[in-house]
Amino acid sequence: DPQCQKFEYQAEVSRLMDLIVHSLYSNKEVFLRELISNASDALDKLRFLSVTEPELSKEAVDLDIRIQTDKDNGIITITDTGIGMTSQELVDCLGTIAQSGTAKFLKAIKDSKEAGADSNLIGQFGVGFYSAFLVSDKVVVSTKSPKSDKQYVWEGEANASSYTIREEMDPEKLIPRGTRLTLYLKRDDKAFAHPERIQNLVKNYSQFVSFPIYTWQEKGFTKEVEIDNDPAEVNQEGGEDTNTEKKKKTKKVIEKYWDWELTNETKPIWLRNPKDVTTEEYNEFYKKTFNEYLDPLASSHFTTEGEVEFRSILFVPAVKKDDIVNSKTKNIRLYVKRVFISDDFDGELFPRYLSFVKGVVDSNDLPLNVSREILQESRIVRIMRKRLVRKAFDMILGISLSENRDDYEKFWENFGKNLKLGCIEDHSNHKRIAPLLRFFSSQSEDDLISLDEYVLFLVDPMDEVAIQNLKSYKEKNFVDISKEDLDLGDKNEEKEKDIKQEFGQTCDWIKKRLGDKVASVQISNRLSSSPCVLVSGKFGWSANMERLMRAQTL
Ligand code: ADP
Ligand code: MG
Repeated sequence: DPQCQKFEYQAEVSRLMDLIVHSLYSNKEVFLRELISNASDALDKLRFLSVTEPELSKEAVDLDIRIQTDKDNGIITITDTGIGMTSQELVDCLGTIAQSGTAKFLKAIKDSKEAGADSNLIGQFGVGFYSAFLVSDKVVVSTKSPKSDKQYVWEGEANASSYTIREEMDPEKLIPRGTRLTLYLKRDDKAFAHPERIQNLVKNYSQFVSFPIYTWQEKGFTKEVEIDNDPAEVNQEGGEDTNTEKKKKTKKVIEKYWDWELTNETKPIWLRNPKDVTTEEYNEFYKKTFNEYLDPLASSHFTTEGEVEFRSILFVPAVKKDDIVNSKTKNIRLYVKRVFISDDFDGELFPRYLSFVKGVVDSNDLPLNVSREILQESRIVRIMRKRLVRKAFDMILGISLSENRDDYEKFWENFGKNLKLGCIEDHSNHKRIAPLLRFFSSQSEDDLISLDEYVLFLVDPMDEVAIQNLKSYKEKNFVDISKEDLDLGDKNEEKEKDIKQEFGQTCDWIKKRLGDKVASVQISNRLSSSPCVLVSGKFGWSANMERLMRAQTL
């Protein structure tokens, strides 16, 4: 076929497919979750882009996902009416790893190998399109983008280094818009093509997909059908009397037919009444939405009304991912009136030191065609941000007050630095941050204590700057005891005068001897058992800070 073009995969893709097939071997069914999530993403994209480009959805078809199985031949087809792909997009999306979740998987595999982590964890990562090859010998993607007037077919086989793209010529296979994936299952995986199996997997994996998912199911209804009277019977009962009207007999039979059946619940969890949602449901939602494998440390589901209206569920993760402040976290999924807008606006809804908070936010007030610029300007967003931040702090405070001390230790270990950054970057929330801080101290070198509990060792590189910004706590100022003029409020002026008289000349003599090595030599009342202490100037760097700066420039 001259119209059929052959392409080589980008080198990483081949390696990735190999890794996926090998490491997820015992967790094969994740392929369905991944393909449904791609279909759902494609529908989200279409809905979002149509707000500003209505011509994209000029084909009047419902936004949904349909999964059909052919168990005799071991074939599954997954069809969505989403944004589809142009031929160039087929090459870019299915032949290369761009910014896809599959890249995250590569990294996770590498990290988990180094850390010797349980290989089960890997199953929880977004492993993307190529997971189709976990169960398939061949995958065919036929797709029609509303931006193109042609429909294209991508075809790839397991263990191959190349794939093909051609135009769809079969009129029976044309679709108005979206993507149809056909999986030709491996011999040993044909059981996935059983309608009940697919139905169960969809229920299990996709209960939080917000588009209807239909599966093709066999159904039956009972009906009564007439049956002819048995002539022998008539003879027995009616004897020779042939004038007797024949009695009509019926029997019940089950009529079988196939039809689409709605298989998921599409009402988003955040629209439900918090009273009716169990912790397990929140945890499931969290894990499925954010590809997490551990339950969150805390969650908060709330609605605000009045000036601005929005609903939200926020979560504090139990593990830290990547950097302390990763600008590309995709932690907050923003919806406007139930329509998914973006997971790229975290920075507009949360200050960067709280970038670890995950969740969904569904606003009734923002316009559907909201952009980053609109968010940055919007008064509504400023109010939302304030409320979200407050809720986040309530949630963290909740963890700190929980009976299970481990939880807060875990939190502090992961996100303590973020709160210290908050001391520096967010003065308006000092009151909320300060009670959440933890330090080592002279009272407890092994256990962390809160500011309510005592004197502190600021040994973490960020401590000093954080505390300098905080300045005071409950009307008590922080004082650095390694600096000059330490005043612990126990001055005895009489006594000081006497001592100054007695040792003033000694100080002058020492200063003369040391010359430029010290700024000044002073009498202090801080010492009880040593004759002298080296301290730094009131406005200079502390010795600790100097040490850190020196370490940095080395
Ligand atoms: P990710 O979903 O994390 O981006 P995937 O490997 O799952 O990674 O998918 C790669 C890309 O292929 C997607 O980002 C998307 O652009 C494209 N894609 C996959 N499935 C579909 C689909 N059903 N409709 C439109 N585009 C799709
Ligand atoms: Mg995906």
